[in-house]
Amino acid sequence: MNRKIFFITGTDTGVGKTIATLVLGALLQKRGKDVGVLKPVQSGRLGGGDAEFLKKLLKLADGIREINPYFAPEPLSPHLAFQRQGIRVDPAKIQEALRVLQARHDIVLIEGAGGLLVPITKTYLMADLARDTGSELIIVARLGLGTINHTLLTIAEAQRRGLKVAGVVFSDAAGGTKGLPERTNPAFIKEVGGVPVLGIIPKLKHFDQLSVTRRCRGCMNIKGLLATQHVPPEPWAACDQDYVWHPFTQMQDWATSPPLVIERGEGSHLIDTDGRRYLDGVSSLWVNVHGHRKRELDEALFEQAGKIAHTTMLGLANVPAAALAQKLIEIAPKGLEKVFYSDNGSTAVEVAIKMCYQYWQNMGAKNKTGIVHLTNSYHGDTLGSVSVGGIELFHQVYRKLVFKTIALDFPDCYRVPKADAFRAVERFEKMLRRDKGKIAGLVLEPTVQGAAGMIMWPKGVLKAFEQACRKHDVFLIADEVATGFGRTGKMFACEHENVRPDLMCVAKGITGGYLPLAATLTTRRVFDGFVFPYPEQKTFFHGHTYTGNPLACAVALKNIEIFKKERVLERLQPKIKFLAGELKKLRAIPWVGDIRQKGFMVGIELVMDRASKEPFPWEARVGVQVCERARQYGVILRPLGNVIVLMPPLSMSTGELKLLVNATRRAVRDVLGNRYFK
Ligand code: PMP
Repeated sequence: MNRKIFFITGTDTGVGKTIATLVLGALLQKRGKDVGVLKPVQSGRLGGGDAEFLKKLLKLADGIREINPYFAPEPLSPHLAFQRQGIRVDPAKIQEALRVLQARHDIVLIEGAGGLLVPITKTYLMADLARDTGSELIIVARLGLGTINHTLLTIAEAQRRGLKVAGVVFSDAAGGTKGLPERTNPAFIKEVGGVPVLGIIPKLKHFDQLSVTRRCRGCMNIKGLLATQHVPPEPWAACDQDYVWHPFTQMQDWATSPPLVIERGEGSHLIDTDGRRYLDGVSSLWVNVHGHRKRELDEALFEQAGKIAHTTMLGLANVPAAALAQKLIEIAPKGLEKVFYSDNGSTAVEVAIKMCYQYWQNMGAKNKTGIVHLTNSYHGDTLGSVSVGGIELFHQVYRKLVFKTIALDFPDCYRVPKADAFRAVERFEKMLRRDKGKIAGLVLEPTVQGAAGMIMWPKGVLKAFEQACRKHDVFLIADEVATGFGRTGKMFACEHENVRPDLMCVAKGITGGYLPLAATLTTRRVFDGFVFPYPEQKTFFHGHTYTGNPLACAVALKNIEIFKKERVLERLQPKIKFLAGELKKLRAIPWVGDIRQKGFMVGIELVMDRASKEPFPWEARVGVQVCERARQYGVILRPLGNVIVLMPPLSMSTGELKLLVNATRRAVRDVLGNRYFK
């Protein structure tokens, strides 16, 4: 696929962008390149319209609406011009137009309108379009006095937004003799702005291709633009295979075929190094919330990077961490009042366990040391979190390394009657009654045991656990690492049963899937259990280097803001129902034993026999095969044994959800056989 796209923007309106597009187009054509032009939005009819002007003079065969999908007659900023026409500009339609042109031409020149911050709609700027089209920028600037400020501002804004500047073109539309500014500005901007200067376009009298190339050949150097044209793709797949050790991966298998290498993301899609697009069916391991390259999150990150990337929380406070803590407490279940930061789900759980344990030590209850966890639970991979984990396949080899905990038998709710889950709570109560104050806390994944295979609890089980904890003064530690931030349809899964944990662990979706950040939230009671004069040594001696990292906290803060501003949870509800409807289609497949859904968390369990629920042997790697097959249908999935997990970003559209389920269905059919399909 051709990936050479230049976005021609101005330092201001009327600086000569269209002429620059013409000149660049003509010079590229002269060098044998097939050039396409996209004028995505055009407002105002100047000389028959820029698009028509360029189509005629560059002799473009593309249709005028292919070159210019959006047109409004008034010479206003696009956001206003189109609003006044009642036209809703859809960036996806512009992308589609670009794809068509890209398929036809070697190089596409996109001519923006005005400068980088000109709004196409109220929330979508020219700079966003430049970013979303993967373009390199060419900045068109005036030559004379005043250009230094305008051009350097444009370069700085482009760089702040991660846009690559291919070069600056100066336009000498006025012509005439050149004063000192005209003679020195290009070199100054090149030096201070640190970007190439492609040349100075002289005042033109004739606009036909021949005259333009004759007049401009000597004053423009476009070699640099072409130089990057045929850069061979980097051998990233081989590089990965040579050097990287992948998580949860048998590296012998990994070496057998080149891996899929992701280079970019956009909304619900992941894009590989060959430009192929895949739906991100598991939210990049359950973390992505609002889609990839969410503009507000990108900007929050850049803005914070412009202040400071990291400063320690040991002995210092920082602005985003303080602000985020307040917001977390605002949205968390009632009773949670303090925030302790760490950097991943496992550490958030370890922090909670250590706090729970030390609290009782600090309070003098020296024997209250037991930590109860459920079988089939998963709380992370560090040794502390493995100590409360119950997934045999992952954890059994470390049994001698981990500390002693109490495992409470909890059933696989698909294979037993509902009542068995409540029986587990009864066993817990019995344990508490017998233990005479030795149990310090219970750690659990509220309502959905994710990594165990999306085991979903009958309603009431979580509440019953909470009540048992309250009755016996044992701390309830809710691990909301997977379920938090809207995954189950509510901000936190505890809300489904109005449960108020003593400690709550969050990670994954906290930054919208952007950066590693985690937090352990506690009640004031827990916090107060550590507030003593220093010599008593009751401090919580724990803290990671990147605890409360400002970049991550700034993005997390914006993530929470988006939930509110875009009414994410409200808008999610009909999509949850839609997804449920789509999933029903899978029932026709006899290998589908169970379809479990809580919000946007889905587990599709494949079985040998639906009646007996007999699982496929794990060596058959049925789940892995289905997920590998799904890639051919443009979807990235990751299984848990025989359970196919669907965990789309909350922003996924109904159209995309439909594609996701259909791809899953076809992949299951391909792997397990056709004959059962009607
Ligand atoms: N707790 C739960 C419930 C999880 O699902 C996970 C990760 N899947 C973790 C903890 C561990 O999080 P991390 O991988 O960020 O350490």
